[in-house]
Amino acid sequence: MPKFKTLDDIGDVRGKVALVRVDLNLPMKDGRATDVTRVEASAPTILELADKGAKVLLLAHFGRPKGQRNSTMSTSMVQGDVERVLDREIMFIPEVAGPVVEQAIGILRDGDIGLLDNVRFWPGEEANDPEFARAIAGHGDFYVNDAFSAAHRAHASTEGLAHLLPAYAGRAMEAELTALDKALGNPEMPAAAVVGGAKVSSKLAVLEHLVGKVQHLIIGGGMANTFLAARGVDVGKSLCEHDLTGTANKILDTASHAGCTVHLPYDVVVAKEFAAHPASLRTCNVHEVAAEEMILDVGPLAVEALGDVLKTCRTLVWNGPMGAFETEPFDAATVALARTAAALTQDGSLVSVAGGGDTVAALNHAGVAHDFTYISTAGGAFLEWMEGKVLPGVAALEA
Ligand code: ADP
Ligand code: MG
Repeated sequence: MPKFKTLDDIGDVRGKVALVRVDLNLPMKDGRATDVTRVEASAPTILELADKGAKVLLLAHFGRPKGQRNSTMSTSMVQGDVERVLDREIMFIPEVAGPVVEQAIGILRDGDIGLLDNVRFWPGEEANDPEFARAIAGHGDFYVNDAFSAAHRAHASTEGLAHLLPAYAGRAMEAELTALDKALGNPEMPAAAVVGGAKVSSKLAVLEHLVGKVQHLIIGGGMANTFLAARGVDVGKSLCEHDLTGTANKILDTASHAGCTVHLPYDVVVAKEFAAHPASLRTCNVHEVAAEEMILDVGPLAVEALGDVLKTCRTLVWNGPMGAFETEPFDAATVALARTAAALTQDGSLVSVAGGGDTVAALNHAGVAHDFTYISTAGGAFLEWMEGKVLPGVAALEA
């Protein structure tokens, strides 16, 4: 396990100013957040520091203002949502550094919470400008990063600050890093990875990294079609990146040298039109897909065999649905395999970690998100971690 400091290592925080990087990039509709999961994730960190008497300054980005002030992207837009989740009033501070921040700190009492404005209003954020980072750091006594979802970016608020102040992982960051380490850093063997979703091209680096890490690589979703095509299967009108069959073959070769078994579906659910319960729906062997058919889900026999594979494994990392799960009945394979993984996790035989925007939606749809060991809601950061990359925001905490 990589070594980083947590809130347990800070000591007495009473009266100290905590600069806490959180993820407040909430999906909005009509001026209100439609999903506050990200705030809920960091609430324990924020409240722990506040309850121990720190003055907590929340630091976050919101949207892509590209280095300019933009009133529609002010973090004040989410102040109400943050207050509702924390069940506390917080003070909005329309700057991230300078006299206004200094004045606000003077007004805040121990245990109060302030919300700084969108750190991306300043070009120094994304440029990771040391001057900009120093200006922010000057207001704080220590820095806490609780935004794993932003840790793949080397920005001032995610990376630069960690070098200028005593730096700690918040509770959500700590939980995420611990879970991810168990799943891929230091997994109990045998380990399996499920990689699905639409395209091979979006997850090439993930596949290349995983074949050297896990004993079983389960490929589903649209990307399985490219692998099937690489093996000479006619996939008809399926979503398929024919220009990547060479790459797919290379990955299959690397896997076989590394002792990683790649599982591709041998039966599939196909249809001539992509719609809910289409008349042309049928299940067939992968070698029987007709020219005008599309593969839209993994078949039931393959799913059962994959469940048996998971039963032999101790660790599972999952990114990408097995089929076009948003449209019934092409959710069947994803739902069935997710339920098997959830049951094995609940039995204590499997450590299961999953992530990815659509993957989290699919696991919620299957009703098993809470039965996995850990679900990561960090999109880009989770994928980069699955690629084996060192995330700059995490590395800076370890320094
Ligand atoms: P994540 O967001 O979890 O990383 P992706 O974005 O890579 O996942 O992929 C999810 C998308 O892949 C879903 O919208 C799903 O409908 C699509 N998909 C899965 N299987 C197929 C398939 N066989 N044909 C077409 N689209 C598919
Ligand atoms: Mg997606």
